[in-house]
Formats: sequence, C-alpha cells, structure tokens
Amino acid sequence: MSIYSGPVFEMARQQFEIIADHLEIPTDERPRLLYPKRAIAVCLPIHMDDGRTQVFQAYRVQHHLTLGPTKGGTRFADNLELGEVAALAIWMSWKCALAGLPYGGAKGGVACSPLTLSPRELEAVSRRYMQELIPFVGPHTDVMAPDMGTNEQIMGWFMDTYSMYRGHAVNEIVTGKPVAVGGTQGRQEATGRGVAYLVARAAETVALNPTGIAAIVQGFGNVGSIAAYTMARRYGIRIVGISDHTAAYYDPNGLPMDAVKSHIIKNRVLAGFSNEARITPDQLLVQKCDVLVPAAVERVITKEIAGALQCRILAEGANGPTTPDADAVLDKRGDVFIIPDILCNSGGVIVSYFEWVQGLQRRLWSESEVNAELEKVLGISFDQVTERSRQFRVSHRTAAISIGVEKVRAGKATRGLFP
Ligand code: NAD
Repeated sequence: MSIYSGPVFEMARQQFEIIADHLEIPTDERPRLLYPKRAIAVCLPIHMDDGRTQVFQAYRVQHHLTLGPTKGGTRFADNLELGEVAALAIWMSWKCALAGLPYGGAKGGVACSPLTLSPRELEAVSRRYMQELIPFVGPHTDVMAPDMGTNEQIMGWFMDTYSMYRGHAVNEIVTGKPVAVGGTQGRQEATGRGVAYLVARAAETVALNPTGIAAIVQGFGNVGSIAAYTMARRYGIRIVGISDHTAAYYDPNGLPMDAVKSHIIKNRVLAGFSNEARITPDQLLVQKCDVLVPAAVERVITKEIAGALQCRILAEGANGPTTPDADAVLDKRGDVFIIPDILCNSGGVIVSYFEWVQGLQRRLWSESEVNAELEKVLGISFDQVTERSRQFRVSHRTAAISIGVEKVRAGKATRGLFP
C-alpha cells in the first residue's frame, strides 16, 4: 500500500513496529500512526550558469497534523529519495512530541549537490523550491528549517520568496533564518549545543570523570562542529577524532580545535588539515574514546561497527545513525549509554519552536534566555527517557520513541476521526 521505500524508510518502519509491539498498539491502528498525511513531489526547472535548463526533483513530507502545524528541516543532498524524506518526517514527529512541542513532523529537500552549485544557482533552486510549495506550507500549516546542505541564507531566501507572494513579511514561515530577518539568537548553534549539554548529562549519569573525557565526532557541519567546539570549550572534553566527507583525523592526545576552526573558516572542509593525524573514515568510529558523536548521515553504525565500538556514550547528533540490527547488538552488549537521535539532536527543533513563537508574538528573546530555556526542555526530556528506560527495562531509544508515539496517539484518540 505504500509509496515509500528504501533502507531509511524501512528503518523508521522497523523502529515503529518495535515500539508498537512494546505499547501493544492494535494492528489496525498502526498505519494511521506511521504513514505520512501528505507527500508532495515537485520538479524544479532551473537556468544553470552554462545556459542549460536543469530539472531538480524535490519533496516535502508532512507526517501528521494532529497536534499543530508540521515542522521540519530541508535537506539538499545528492540521491535524496522520498522514502528517506518520509522517514525523517516520521522521526521529527516523535522528536517534537518527546520535547512537548505543538507540532507534527515534516521534512523536505531537493536532490542536488549544493557544493557544486554556484551561489546564483543555489539561490534559484532555493527560491523555486519554496515557490512550488507555497500552496502547502504556512506558519500554521508547515514550517521549514535547515538540515543537511542548507543554512541560514537559504532560510532567508525561503522567507523572502514566501513573503513576496503574500505581500508582507512573514518571518514565522521558516526557522533557522538570519537574525536580521527575524531569526532567533542561538538557533544556529542550538543542535550542537544541545548535543554537548546531553553528553555532559550522560557523562554525569555514568560517572565519567569530566576532565579526562575523550570524544570523536563524525561530520563537521553545523551539528558536528558546534558540538565539538562546545564540548571542548564549555565542558573541557578532549576532541580526539573528527571527520567530514573529505577527511578523517584521530589523535589520542587531542586535536587542536582552534587550529581546526581556523582551517574550516578558510577551507570550508577538513581535507588538508594534517598529514600525521589522518585515519581512514571507517576506522574513526571504532577508535577508543569515551564519547562518540555521529553527526553526519544515517545508518553509519551498522551491526559490525556496533560490535567494535569502544565508546561509553553514543550521542546521536545525526538522524538515524544506528540501524535496528546495530541496536540489537548494542542492547545485548549493554555497556554503551545511548542518547538516541530524537533526544540528542532535539535542541534544533526546540530553539526553532522558540523562534516561531517569537515570530508570531513579535517579541525577541536574548541568547541567554534561549539557552536557559533550551537546557530546561532538554533536561526534562533526558530525565523522562532515562526514567522510563529504568522503569520498563527498555533501551533509551525504545523509551524515547514510546513517549513520542504515546503523545501522538493520545492526540489522535482525543480528536477522533473526521468525519
Ligand atoms: P551539514 O550539511 O551542516 O553537515 C553535514 C556534515 O557531514 C558535513 O561536514 C559533511 O562533510 C559531513 N558528511 C557527510 N557525509 C559524511 C560521511 N559519509 N562521513 C563523514 N562525514 C560526512 O548538516 P547538519 O545540519 O550538521 O546535519 C547533520 C546531521 O544532523 C543530519 O543527520 C541532520 O539530519 C541532523 N540534524 C541537523 C539539525 C540542524 O539543526 N542542522 C537538527 C537535527 C538533526
């Protein structure tokens, strides 16, 4: 019955079935909870700089509208597929519900390589994407945000395109936009900052000595880089490994993060940073460390890698980094404290919610207010997940998704079926 396929959707479906069994949800109720309410596929014809017209395939999936508008990021990536976007929308639903935000999940994106587009082409793709979706989005319907391959500037173009069609500035149509057009203080850093805060909470829970902690971060974009800088600067954690799609580095004595930052500002990617500390990307994940932060793409922790991990804490900055097979291995091992993705990277959507509220109310918060509220919400979610895991003797992932699914289910039950 489904138009959704592919390994990432299959992973979201399998995870949901585990939760549905755990919560004893009747089989006839499951499709209503799992399958997205709407999926929109559009083609974007773009004039390229060399004079050709190129068509890009793009999507937006809105998972459920039960608790409020849908909310979710926009991914610009090669080989983006509908099934992957749908899985990400489903995870957003459980994530928003876990954090207590009045949203359903959504996700969208364009199948393109943003790094190979010129600035003019990137702007054209971004504006055309928003333009095609105008009938389906709105501040009370579906609110976009950044994800892999998109950034503040692209959110600024989305906001401008939507506003030009409406005839007035509608800055609450997207979050993660520049502060100059109604973005909030602290949004750009929110996801990575949240990851670092939760790593510190987890380290305290498993009684790791804060001064001796060593961390490896895979992916050095928005989430990974901010998580690494914040762990190092704020919590005194030694960053021993980092990688992006161009290179991976490992030094058990700690990498010089100020030099890494200067290199990234100048070159945008990690390639060329050091010859001595180079390591093959696959090897990086299984090096000895206290904290491993996958902050790049899905399905990097496979069952083989799960068996070889040498970390005490697995902090999932990325969405869906651990496959269900790997989860089974980690459950059996029992020695890795997992901060599951829908908790670990929820700082982004929590501060996006603050940004949306500020936009609707035309009222601005300071960065310290944003950060204090962020930690409050994350702290509550962390306590709920760890407490439920203890109480029901289930993994942190099962605990976290169960809380999310239960809230969505309760909303659907209360509202009933129309007509
Ligand atoms: P980004 O585009 O800013 O960065 C992605 C990084 O991953 C880049 O450094 C890229 O080089 C690297 N990368 C890609 N493939 C890799 C590979 N195979 N091995 C190692 N590195 C690789 O994206 P982002 O916004 O930082 O998002 C990263 C992850 O975090 C995604 O899973 C995204 O869905 C999730 N996430 C992002 C946010 C947010 O606020 N940006 C919020 C929640 C979750």
